[in-house]
Amino acid sequence: MSDCLFCKIVAGEIPAKVVAESDTSLAFYDIAPEAPVHVLVVPKRHFDGVNDVADADRGVFDDLMALAREVATAEGVRDTGYRLVFNVGEQGGQTVSHLHVHVLGGRQMRWPSG
Ligand code: 5GP
Ligand code: ZN
Repeated sequence: MSDCLFCKIVAGEIPAKVVAESDTSLAFYDIAPEAPVHVLVVPKRHFDGVNDVADADRGVFDDLMALAREVATAEGVRDTGYRLVFNVGEQGGQTVSHLHVHVLGGRQMRWPSG
């Protein structure tokens, strides 16, 4: 998608601080962190969001989770705990229409998140 922010980050057209990468996914620091560790993990291929991943492509979630876990380890929160968040659609608080999971940690998380 030519006008998608995260596609541009994946393509290297917009700079981001990359934390980790796999064949299919990219992890980079959120520009407005909500916690000491706040990393976004995105598929390199464009999907608008969780609702837009076809059954045939469900492996994309496995790939995102595998890289998210790698990020948690690299960022030192694997054992202290962390939160993985998919915001979905308008009421879910999704502001960027390219599938992503937030990796949040480094402080005590509260629930419900609001
Ligand atoms: P959402 O609200 O869609 O779940 O999450 C989008 C996230 O992208 C937000 O946490 C926001 O801070 C982050 N974000 C927005 N623009 C940029 C950007 O240009 N670079 C980076 N690294 N993160 C961004
Ligand atoms: Zn995109």
